[in-house]
This record gives sequence, C-alpha cells and structure tokens, in this order.
Amino acid sequence: MNDPTPQDDSAAERQMRFVFALRSHGVTDTRVLQAMERTDRGAFVRGLFAERAYEDMPLPISCGQTISQPSVVGLMTQALDVQPRDKVLEVGTGSGYQAAILSHLCRRVYTVDRHRRLVREAAEVFRELGLVNITAFAADGSFGLPDQAPFDRILVTAAAEDPPGPLLAQLKIGGIMVLPVGQSDAVQSLIKVTRLQSGYDYEELRPVRFVPLVEGLGTE
Ligand code: SAH
Repeated sequence: MNDPTPQDDSAAERQMRFVFALRSHGVTDTRVLQAMERTDRGAFVRGLFAERAYEDMPLPISCGQTISQPSVVGLMTQALDVQPRDKVLEVGTGSGYQAAILSHLCRRVYTVDRHRRLVREAAEVFRELGLVNITAFAADGSFGLPDQAPFDRILVTAAAEDPPGPLLAQLKIGGIMVLPVGQSDAVQSLIKVTRLQSGYDYEELRPVRFVPLVEGLGTE
C-alpha cells in the first residue's frame, strides 16, 4: 500500500535534482528553498516546453517573454531578504512563478506586467493554487503602484538602464529593491538597492540576462 508508485519515485527524484541545482548555484537560504519546493514550476509552464519545467533553464512563455531560470529566481529571492510581514511589489509577472514563490515568504504580493494576457493567465494559476495573497495588475511597472506604495521590498524581473525613479521613491526606508540593470541585452548586472535614512546604497551582485523593461502597455 505504501510503496511509492514508479511515478511518485520519479517525481521525488525530479524534486531532488531541482533542489540540488538550486543549492549548487548558491541558493542556500532555507526559507527560500522551502518556498521553491512548495511552488510547482510545472503549473507555470504550458505547451511545448511543459516537460522541461523542472530543468534549471529559462523557458519561453506567452507574449514572447520568458520564465526565468530557477537558480536565478532563487538567488534574486534570497538577495531580497523578504520578511514575513512584508508587502512586496514585483515588476514583470510573466508566468507568475516568481510571485508565487514570494507569496509563501511574505504577507502580500502585488505583481504587475505590461501584457494583459500574462496577467490574466498568471492570476488564473494563483487562483487554482489558492495563493490568495497575490494581486496581479496590468500596468507599466516602471511607474510602480502609487496606490499601494510604499513597499518593503521591490523585485524587478526585466532589465532597465537605470533603477526607475518611481520605484526608488516607492521603497520604504530600510527597504530593499533587487533588479537587473544594463545598457543592452548582453551586459546586465543584478543590483541590490537599499533605501537608507537619507539616500540609497547600491550593491552589484552578479551578471544576468533578462528581457528589457519596455514602456507602456503591450498589445496582448
Ligand atoms: N518574473 C517572471 C519572468 C519575467 S519576464 C516569471 O516568474 O515568470 C519579464 C516580464 O517583464 C515580461 O513578462 C514582460 O512583459 C514584463 N515587462 C517588461 N516591461 C515591463 C513594464 N514596463 N512593466 C511591467 N512589466 C514589464
């Protein structure tokens, strides 16, 4: 009765490989690892690439966008140092995977994407998974969400040339924003911005490659 079926076995093995890949890329924070173990990436990858959902690689999603590589998601989440009472803004909902992970770590997640279709599809998955502390909006996230501001944490998952001013302004004092910045698609750095009593502290974390932060709402 209690013997695992071959299917359970391979799911367990898949999970072990997934967590191993995260650890070997430097994702060591226990809370982040637990949140990622609870979040089935397979629920966020549809169609042609669904069977590759558990591999540590970025994959195509709707609207010509990508779901980030799990180890990069883990490192960004770890750098954000999310606390249980936090109100978090994510810019770049995409598949919703990153927002789902954040939702296990904090009180409230607001996520925005410029593509209405992505927001609609992600909101559907949040509903299916019972992730009731996430609110998804279609908006140009470079302006943040003035009505919900200020935020304890802001995570941007598309690359801008510089940290957008409205996002810096919507960060609480002591708050942290993690975002990729760069002049081109090829050369980008992940940076961590901490808002101090007066001014901001900037720390460069690692090279990354993200789709660009684009102005205005998308057509889809
Ligand atoms: N975090 C996502 C991956 C994001 S891909 C995940 O977990 O799957 C980057 C996303 O940023 C894309 O969906 C793109 O549409 C969105 N994006 C780009 N520019 C934007 C802007 N100005 N405002 C909001 N979203 C934007």
